[in-house]
Amino acid sequence: MSSIRAIRGMNDILPDETPIWQFVEGVVHQLFSSYGYGQIRLPIVEQTELFQRSIGEVTDIVEKEMYTFRDRNDDSLTLRPEGTAGCVRAAIQNSLLVTPQRLWYCGPMFRYERPQKGRQRQFHQIGVEAFGIATPDMDAEVILLTARLWKLLGVADSVTLQLNSIGSLEARAVYREALVAYLEQHRDALDEDSQRRLTSNPLRILDSKDAGTQALLDGAPVLLDYLDEAAAADFTRLRELLDAAGVAYEINPRLVRGLDYYNNTVFEWVTDQLGAQGTVCAGGRYDGLVGQMGGKPTPGVGFAMGVERLVLLLEAAGVRPEIPAEADLYLVSFGEPAQCASLAAGENLRDAFPGLRIVQHNGGGSFKSQMKKADRSGARFALIWGEDELAAGTVTLKALRDTDKESLGQQSLPQAELEQTLRALLAQ
Ligand code: ATP
Ligand code: MG
Repeated sequence: MSSIRAIRGMNDILPDETPIWQFVEGVVHQLFSSYGYGQIRLPIVEQTELFQRSIGEVTDIVEKEMYTFRDRNDDSLTLRPEGTAGCVRAAIQNSLLVTPQRLWYCGPMFRYERPQKGRQRQFHQIGVEAFGIATPDMDAEVILLTARLWKLLGVADSVTLQLNSIGSLEARAVYREALVAYLEQHRDALDEDSQRRLTSNPLRILDSKDAGTQALLDGAPVLLDYLDEAAAADFTRLRELLDAAGVAYEINPRLVRGLDYYNNTVFEWVTDQLGAQGTVCAGGRYDGLVGQMGGKPTPGVGFAMGVERLVLLLEAAGVRPEIPAEADLYLVSFGEPAQCASLAAGENLRDAFPGLRIVQHNGGGSFKSQMKKADRSGARFALIWGEDELAAGTVTLKALRDTDKESLGQQSLPQAELEQTLRALLAQ
């Protein structure tokens, strides 16, 4: 019978990869709280309607990427494809929309896409949402937060910030007409996807990866020229703030986001080191979303980054957090009575040395095979109990690493002195 395998595009993250994930998560946790952001943990499954209404019906995500199913009550549910919709839902439902409200989240997201490097069906995002402030100082803050994160992770040289303003809904409607009028004249030169989007979601054409379409867009009207006065002023102010903080950016007038809820500021951090999956972090302002979802109208700005892509980038940049050895102490025993002594001593040592990694040898075996495991565990010392030790009330301590081997070798200690001896040795 063939064995069961993981679902395509849903990867296991193995013990030799988790240190780099933990490194990223640890830095994020500390950094975000240093800016006053509190963590929110949200359900992975929500009502399908939540995503349809927030992300937008004619987006790639809602049209073709969602994992949607009926539960036993015949309700339509969806595995969350992103975090903002759920966060907004939770903020409304739990009356979190005080001003300002700074939140962050992390966890798995699900999209039915073609799996490839940096693109999975289950992937992980870390994101931030800041509610209640409509002025560009808040946009600057969330961007500064990401800029600092790259520095702390050691990848600041690998990413660049792309920035745009897409203005208000009304300005976009006017621009949309101008863009469609221009592109209609060149319909046959557009790629197939873009022809379809001409009626459904023309702004997404700006985002097309097709070289022919991009060339056509060189002559197209530019969204930035259509901004209303307030949006233009906010964009200028955001740029002043970023300049003052020394954060470099490129204005990309074709940057639009694949989700419908954005207005004004949109940004992406991109890298040239991950091939086609070059966007590591993306975000923007969404002042209409809370109201549209039934909450008291409240502005918001946020971003999400793909943790898999970030991890790939760290690896490409040669950032390798130290992988700690599995154990500090490895406990070996021979015979059932000795195993009782070893087990009890292990528990006492865990009381005495909180945080010390103490691994018990289970499953028996010869002295040679147990010592081989002890050595492979990376532990500094093995503690050995056999018949002789039990009779004499002692324990054998064996140095496993070259640095200790010469000075300590292997010695027998009274059981009662073990804690004290270890305390002295571990302090060295
Ligand atoms: P893309 O254009 O690469 O499909 P997107 O615009 O759909 O990205 P967002 O919805 O803005 O992505 O999500 C924010 C970030 O989450 C992305 O910039 C990326 O880093 C990450 N991300 C999105 N989809 C995936 C995926 N399927 N696998 C891995 N990471 C992803
Ligand atoms: Mg996508």
